[in-house]
Amino acid sequence: AQGLDFLRRPSMAMGPEDLRREQERPGYVKMLPMRQHLPAFHMAKEICSSVRDNQVTLILGATGCGKTTQIPQFLLEDCTLRGEPCRLVATQPRRISAVSVADRVATERGQTLGESVAFKIRFEDEITETTQVIFCTVGILLKVMQSNQYLEGATHIVVDEVHERGLHTDFLLILLRRLLKERPELRVVLMSATVDPSAFQAYFEGINTVSIPGKTNYPIEELFLEDFLLQLPELGGWRSNRQIRSSPFSQKPLAVPLDWEGVAAVLGESALVEEVVRVHNEMADVIDLELVLRVVKMIHQGGEEGGILIFMPGWAEIKEIIDRLKGRSFAGDLVIHALHSRLPTWEQKQIFQSPPEGQRKVVVATVLAETSITVEDVVYVIDPGRSRTTFFNEQTMISALRTVWYSKANGFQRRGRAGRCRPGVWYRLYTSMQWDAMEEYELPEMLRSPLEELCLEVASLGLGVPEEFLQEAISPPRAEVLQHAVELLQRLGAVEGRGETVTPLGAKLAKLQVHPMLAKLLLLAAPFRCFDMMLTICASLGYKPPFICPMGMEKAANKARQELSEGSSSDLVAMVNAYEGWKVGRDAFARQYFLSKETMEYIHRLREDLLLSIREVLHEVPEDHADHQARANACKAVLTAGLYPNLAWLHGKGRGKTLQNLPVKPHPGSVNAAESHCLMVFYEIQETTDRWLYDSTVIGAAPLLLFAPALTEVHRKQRVVFELERWHMAVDVRVADELLKLRRLLASFVND
Ligand code: ADP
Ligand code: MG
Repeated sequence: AQGLDFLRRPSMAMGPEDLRREQERPGYVKMLPMRQHLPAFHMAKEICSSVRDNQVTLILGATGCGKTTQIPQFLLEDCTLRGEPCRLVATQPRRISAVSVADRVATERGQTLGESVAFKIRFEDEITETTQVIFCTVGILLKVMQSNQYLEGATHIVVDEVHERGLHTDFLLILLRRLLKERPELRVVLMSATVDPSAFQAYFEGINTVSIPGKTNYPIEELFLEDFLLQLPELGGWRSNRQIRSSPFSQKPLAVPLDWEGVAAVLGESALVEEVVRVHNEMADVIDLELVLRVVKMIHQGGEEGGILIFMPGWAEIKEIIDRLKGRSFAGDLVIHALHSRLPTWEQKQIFQSPPEGQRKVVVATVLAETSITVEDVVYVIDPGRSRTTFFNEQTMISALRTVWYSKANGFQRRGRAGRCRPGVWYRLYTSMQWDAMEEYELPEMLRSPLEELCLEVASLGLGVPEEFLQEAISPPRAEVLQHAVELLQRLGAVEGRGETVTPLGAKLAKLQVHPMLAKLLLLAAPFRCFDMMLTICASLGYKPPFICPMGMEKAANKARQELSEGSSSDLVAMVNAYEGWKVGRDAFARQYFLSKETMEYIHRLREDLLLSIREVLHEVPEDHADHQARANACKAVLTAGLYPNLAWLHGKGRGKTLQNLPVKPHPGSVNAAESHCLMVFYEIQETTDRWLYDSTVIGAAPLLLFAPALTEVHRKQRVVFELERWHMAVDVRVADELLKLRRLLASFVND
């Protein structure tokens, strides 16, 4: 029973007798006293009656008070006692929380997973006919709604961590708000850390709010950099706690200096605030890893028991910290785990295991660990205060992944990972002055993301014009951003009209869980016999290129990349050769060709993930061309078709314009840095001092004319002039007619 729509699976009725038997199980009895201590437990009655009496209930409570684990159980027991049916779906923002919370709740009920409690994630579930509480990701529930729009079979939808304001959660809330009108008996419960509830209260008519009083169960010591910096081991001669500008360990900028009175006297108060913010923002992407290690050492030397949770913005930093930790004298006393969304679930779950006697657990994690999970023995949280997020430049419509300072709300969530099972300490690696400069909340994700994927989802769910539909969101995105997204989908050939109609191609793209542009590349690559190659390309584009360029070695690094490109004039073909070489030659190959082995490993994982999800849509995939040249050519054709409208024309050496008329340059590290007078396709533009094309591929005009979704004939004599957005291209009449025939053929082929 692995069908997606688990809500329509048969479900057994349960009554008071079943509940009584459940409550007598030894596991249940054993866990009950612990549960009774949670602040939420005392609110059970009030919560249940609010949910009975109101269609929507908002529950507020501090981290650790028992929202995530207890509330679904209260509702379940309330229904069972009354002999009413209960099939409750509780969404979690992340896979790891869906799995670990389900596990915990099953344990608290004295059961194993799959009896009354289960989880459902992408390729796995434990749901049986006795299951009444299901934990899943928001994405999974949205997928269910593609075929079960009214959520038939569900009695309660619990949306956890609504304060995070994630893109998919906000989207789900639009759907639920509509659904409540159709299904008066459906109950929706929103759960949130204690934040300003007014946005939600205004959004849902007749919403009732229940606040769970009481703070976290155990005290947490809250420290800033200045509170512990001087206690760190091996500070050497470094003594000042007033001028923490650069790190005593790495000479990198470390924090805003504390000695602001002097600065203020010179600059004046308002200039001072500006200066704090400027310095603070400038150092966002520099994390002093050495400082992190010293804090670990200090904790370890302190001799107290307890696990350490370290937050890092991304994979590279996690690997780096772990590598360096392993080199320390006390490494033997530590059990070190990484936690990252790309690790397989079984590996993620290892963080919950208790360390062997006498050893200390260290978990190095991304924001993934920020909410919903309890790692039992975590006592210390080391928090550099950064996160990595997508930033969207609304002027240029270009998005980029950046390391930025988090908001205070994120900080409180991280603090909340300590002190869940015993007292804890929260080490913030920045100063109190910086804390004051931080935003209270992050901007909702819907306001800082590109929206192509969301718009495609709106279209494929038949929800109307995306621009109109998304106006119903709690924080509606800007019209320009939506228009841009819909335009991009139109150009990809995924939607028609104003974006409300999904094409057969679009329907397929919507099923793949990658950006529609990458999804199209994969779909096209199969019949062109370069699928395996495209899989590598999409994985790299979904993350970052593996090429590194050590200072002073630029020439050698560029030469290595040229070699990898095998004369294809494509950074992407070079990437594929890099991956294939690395798979055989591993570390030695990576060294020889200036490749980051961490990035390679990551691309490899992403590639495996992609392969799994593509199998749901593409059943037969022919093998790639054996001949490298033929394969590279096929690949170029597919890139042309799939990356459209990301096209540039280089009119001079290393200078050009995109189809949308933006001036761009191939990045100096690109294999095409010195090209001129050619067409190229690219995936993304990175904006720093200039607009750089990092991943370009030189193409000929023929594939462009064949594959560009919209090609209009504007003039016909001996030559036919085609218009392609802003560009004009002239072609011999006979060639043009052949071309048009081929285009029709290709269109019919893509559409079925
Ligand atoms: P909230 O959602 O309000 O932050 P939770 O329901 O996740 O709270 O957790 C409440 C408390 O239950 C935690 O503070 C912790 O004491 C305990 N708890 C939850 N999950 C686990 C677990 N997997 N192992 C041990 N204790 C847990
Ligand atoms: Mg929670």
